[in-house]
Amino acid sequence: MVVNPTDRDGPDGSPRAGPDQPRATRPRTPDMADPTSKVPGRFYVDDTCIDCDLCRETAPENFRRNDEDRRSFVTRQPASPEEEAACESALLECPVEAIGRDG
Ligand code: SF4
Repeated sequence: MVVNPTDRDGPDGSPRAGPDQPRATRPRTPDMADPTSKVPGRFYVDDTCIDCDLCRETAPENFRRNDEDRRSFVTRQPASPEEEAACESALLECPVEAIGRDG
């Protein structure tokens, strides 16, 4: 079956969003961390994350999943020695070394 390119257009004739088009920005409430940017501070997750869930299990107060990108991000920098230790464990145990720490 041959697909006519115009068959992929939306009902109003405008092109539908495709993989090469920018994602729509989801509205966020003011208290939500922005998963697309690094939370200022020492710990971060780079784009080599394979979404294995280990850091979110190890330091649930500090790491969360970005469902759009299917990877973890730092939602909050550690605020106690316990959280610091949990983040350090996540950094050491991440199977692809996607977690980094500045300083
Ligand atoms: S442990 Fe590493 S690979 Fe696994 S979800 Fe966290 S950052 Fe991603």
